[in-house]
Amino acid sequence: MSPRILLLGGTTEALRLARRLGPESIYSLAGLGRVPDDLPCQVRVGGFGGAEGLAGFIREQGIELLLDLTHPYAAQISANAARACELSGIACWALRRPGWQAGEGDDWREVDNWAGLVEALKDFRRPLFTLGREPLEHLHEIPLHQHWTVRCLTAQQGVPRAEIIGARGPFELDEERALFARLGTDVLISKNSGSQSTEPKLQVARELGLPVLLLRRPSLPSVKREFVSFEALAEALSGIAVGM
Ligand code: NAP
Repeated sequence: MSPRILLLGGTTEALRLARRLGPESIYSLAGLGRVPDDLPCQVRVGGFGGAEGLAGFIREQGIELLLDLTHPYAAQISANAARACELSGIACWALRRPGWQAGEGDDWREVDNWAGLVEALKDFRRPLFTLGREPLEHLHEIPLHQHWTVRCLTAQQGVPRAEIIGARGPFELDEERALFARLGTDVLISKNSGSQSTEPKLQVARELGLPVLLLRRPSLPSVKREFVSFEALAEALSGIAVGM
């Protein structure tokens, strides 16, 4: 018998794992992105109402194991997951994808928050933002000497000094080279997601000698078992779940 699993998703790895879960398990999404309709497991969408709400869901559904495969910057749901497991007495296993590491030729600068980012950006003219929708809230604050490009999941109308590109990874190296060249990018802004599917932009920045401003990773709670790779997590699961 396989345990009844609740998988918290929103990442490529989570979707990959959801494809291996049986019909007794549930894959949960916040509802910001695409919802797959071809999975062998159950799918639910939307928040639970904080840690208490999640603990209630775990009890009602008879969940035996919680898997946190959310994005490394989705700190709230990871905190809720850890707390809900404490409240309901089940184990939480998490994939804690390691961040990217700067190498030879990299000029990476870490910033703590939006204010730190604005300060670090002030000498640049053509920033390329690849950290989600946050810049869209600041389009009215673009300094006169700057033109922004914001790449996020969904496109929307730009403003005179900003282009907004809707795109979802994985991104190929040649596509990224072409994008930087077309835009005349002089600085890249990113989260340190550690994902292979979005890594090529860092290589392009390296090739062009461009600085990269990285938003610092949030701290995440310790949980019962933590895995640094999808393969390690899948192997541990195969030890307890039939058919995985
Ligand atoms: P967050 O700030 O940690 O979570 C905000 C709230 O969204 C949570 O408190 C929870 O609501 C709900 N939520 C988040 N993930 C959920 C899930 N898998 N299933 C059900 N409810 C969920 O998260 P976020 O940064 O907004 O990210 C939202 C989703 O997008 C996550 O699933 C994450 O994996 C994915 N994502 C995030 C990023 C990023 O950069 N932050 C990037 C790529 C993908 P309740 O408190 O009501 O339960």
